[in-house]
Amino acid sequence: MGLEILKLPTTKKNRIYIGIESESKLIPDIDIFPLYCTCCNTAQSKLYEHLGSRYGQVGTAICEKCGREIYITDHDNLVTSIYINGSPSNEIFFNELYLLDWKFVDEFDRLSIINVVKKVTDELKQYDREFITVDELREMIENITDIKTDGKMKFITDERFSILPDDINRWIELLYRAKINIPAKIV
Ligand SMILES: [Zn+2]
Repeated sequence: MGLEILKLPTTKKNRIYIGIESESKLIPDIDIFPLYCTCCNTAQSKLYEHLGSRYGQVGTAICEKCGREIYITDHDNLVTSIYINGSPSNEIFFNELYLLDWKFVDEFDRLSIINVVKKVTDELKQYDREFITVDELREMIENITDIKTDGKMKFITDERFSILPDDINRWIELLYRAKINIPAKIV
């Protein structure tokens, strides 16, 4: 069992589980992710695809610099996080890495547009306890706020990684264009 290196472009999309009545509201369920090697601290240049885990075992990649194995495990449920080489300190939380967290949606009410968060919440109710893609969430908020993205910007949210998936870069671009204070830098 191994991790497959994506041959971009891919049709796979990162998803979010909507639990609009729950505290977290958005729960990432991630298919596409970057990696770094915990042995030589090298960010890997390609994205990887989560092909499903069995008893928490996701798969293994080979470091493109030192050739050692990078093995990935998860919680065997929604992919909200992954572990790199099994270490608890190397648990990667996608609500942080991908800024897929309701606290950023809440920030849209700082705009002069009226009731953005209420409108987003009302629209999401039809998807309660279902999945939508990150692109669908972004398009929903773009339509409500009339803020447009072009998908050409690239961001880094954690220095250990050198690349983020396109749908995530575009989600972060929306936050950036809305002038929301985000822990990300443009690359
Ligand atoms: Zn390495």
